[in-house]
Amino acid sequence: MTLDMRSSLLDPLFAPVAALPGVGPKTAKLFDRLLGQDGARTLDLLFHLPCGVVDNRLSPTIRDAPIESHVVIAARVAEHRVPKRQSNAPLSVLVEDEAGDDVLLVFFRNNFDWVLRALPIGEIRWFSGDLKLWNGHRQIVHPRIWDAGALKQLKEHEPVYGLTEGLHQRAVQKAVEGALERLPHLPEWNDSALLRRETWPTFAEALAKLHAPAGATDLSPDTVARKRLAYDELLSQQLALRLVRAKMRRVRGRPTRGDGRISTLIETALPYSLTNAQRAALADIRGDMADDRRMLRLLQGDVGSGKTIVALLAMASAVEAGRQAALMAPTEILARQHFERIESLARAAGMRVALLTGRDRATERRATLEGLASGAIDIVIGTHALVQESVAFRDLALAIVDEQHRFGVHQRLALGDKGEAADVLVMTATPIPRTLVLTYFGDMDVSNLTEKPAGRQTIDTRAVPLERIDDVIAGIRRAVGQGARAYWVCPLVAENEELEIAAAEERFADLQQHFGARVGLVHGQMKGRDKDAAMLAFQRGETQVLVATTVIEVGVDVPEATIIVIEHAERFGLAQLHQLRGRVGRGAQKSSCVLLYKGPLGETARARLSILRESDDGFRLAEEDLKLRGEGEILGTRQSGLPGFKLADLSAHGALLKLARDDAEAVLQTDEGLMSERGKALRLLLYIFGRDEAVRLLRAG
Ligand code: ADP
Ligand code: MG
Repeated sequence: MTLDMRSSLLDPLFAPVAALPGVGPKTAKLFDRLLGQDGARTLDLLFHLPCGVVDNRLSPTIRDAPIESHVVIAARVAEHRVPKRQSNAPLSVLVEDEAGDDVLLVFFRNNFDWVLRALPIGEIRWFSGDLKLWNGHRQIVHPRIWDAGALKQLKEHEPVYGLTEGLHQRAVQKAVEGALERLPHLPEWNDSALLRRETWPTFAEALAKLHAPAGATDLSPDTVARKRLAYDELLSQQLALRLVRAKMRRVRGRPTRGDGRISTLIETALPYSLTNAQRAALADIRGDMADDRRMLRLLQGDVGSGKTIVALLAMASAVEAGRQAALMAPTEILARQHFERIESLARAAGMRVALLTGRDRATERRATLEGLASGAIDIVIGTHALVQESVAFRDLALAIVDEQHRFGVHQRLALGDKGEAADVLVMTATPIPRTLVLTYFGDMDVSNLTEKPAGRQTIDTRAVPLERIDDVIAGIRRAVGQGARAYWVCPLVAENEELEIAAAEERFADLQQHFGARVGLVHGQMKGRDKDAAMLAFQRGETQVLVATTVIEVGVDVPEATIIVIEHAERFGLAQLHQLRGRVGRGAQKSSCVLLYKGPLGETARARLSILRESDDGFRLAEEDLKLRGEGEILGTRQSGLPGFKLADLSAHGALLKLARDDAEAVLQTDEGLMSERGKALRLLLYIFGRDEAVRLLRAG
């Protein structure tokens, strides 16, 4: 087996679904949609686990067959009821069993001739489908039909898969069967003692088992088959994290020690003094920077906890040492905002600052690039434009990545790679529960800003049903009359940005009737300049009501804003609501948050809104969110771009995560390059879960 190329053993798993029997080009497109991937691979299909199971065991009699469930019955065809030609009425066929109980089979717009031929009067046939009562009579719409011969092929239990429009159960079942048949025999990558202790099946057995559930319990995340695969996924993730980390560590860091001359100037210029939490975090960061190991640290701090100033002071340390620093933000708005807030402080303290985004004019851009390369610029703030190839630093010491949920692991590290063993600090405003820190960041060091700057107001949070929107508008009108500023956040429309924007535009038009020119609009698809203009107008108070989609979720800072209305609050996650709420309560004035919801509320949504009213501690809310929704949604995979797990579910498999961590550590301690027998098998595992990048690191190492 070659080490550095994906082993051909895995080829069947990576073959496109389109290559499976019975999958034509048209169906292949549907599979792509179902699996959320262009050119979906056999492996993706195999990881699409059943969401239900159908029991095909025969009901002894029609009378015993449970109403409102899937049944299989045997019955004799008694009567054809053929509708008049040209009528839209369905064809019905009456069938009855030995005891004389009957069921009406109903067919709409079918090929009636085919049905009648398949069901000759007087013959016994087998039928399956959902048994319903209609006008007091048992009926099945569009049953499946078997004769004695075909019946032998009916499996006792059939898996039920999540579908996409146009794709049928049968098509998915058949494709999965084909995929399982092609499953290669793979060497075992898990420790045999672990497998024995947990009684876990092999990878292939586990997949086969999960696609052949024999009852609801087989669908639970607690089965040995599911646990085995969840473990595989977690192990691959932990190995990958460690390999990335090891690569970072291989390059020795360069100690960066500032003398404090710039940071002292900045601190003295601040109108406030740092919180103890900010001081402690800075001490952590400066300690790491002065050390000859590379820093890889996560700075977690709730909205408004003051991360920006910590970042600025850390950058100052780098500049004091004669080196450079960069800060990367996920959006244009945020990069500009950071720049605006940092620029004057930094300049006053003698640092040369620049902004680099995708929207700079060519001449500006050239000047910035030259300044970074020559060292004429000390610190740069920007978007992911910073990691483009054309960007080079004279001597980058510190790379800071803000709100990093939005960046992938590679973007995060790419900025660090612009320097010689640059230290990396990632900052996040969505505190992540401890388990998730381990999961997504491995053994990254963590500093928490647990304490908020003094004088922060609690935000009066209220849940109001949508029917009372007029009262809310009246309230805003009063406040605006007294000079207040308000955000109006429009509903999140699942997976559909177009609709989301349409909703915002509609609300904007509606609020214009009430507030005229004092209302502004900002959304994700607006041109950069228009977006800036809208933000600026609101910042300056030229507009007092700002209708926005969730683009304002992260970081936007207008201290004068004291009201935020979140429309369809029931559609947002807890962490996200908390982020949004954090847009107000930033100044000295009393602030309020209106959670405008559409009832009736489900249990989870109700719990979410009430927790939010009770608490404004982001760390606590993050834990609660984890309990309510599981880890996938907490970070809001759509928003975050974080890789979600396909098979592992941390609310069920949390204990496995720790096992996987220890396992990964032990493996790499004795077999750093994954060269042993087990190591080679583990390389396959890494490929299976798409950790190709980690395998490449092994090669480069
Ligand atoms: P975060 O990025 O963590 O959400 P920011 O850095 O945007 O928080 O800080 C929020 C606001 O708090 C800013 O206006 C900032 O000037 C202010 N601030 C930061 N640290 C302190 C402090 N120690 N005392 C008072 N205000 C502070
Ligand atoms: Mg911030």
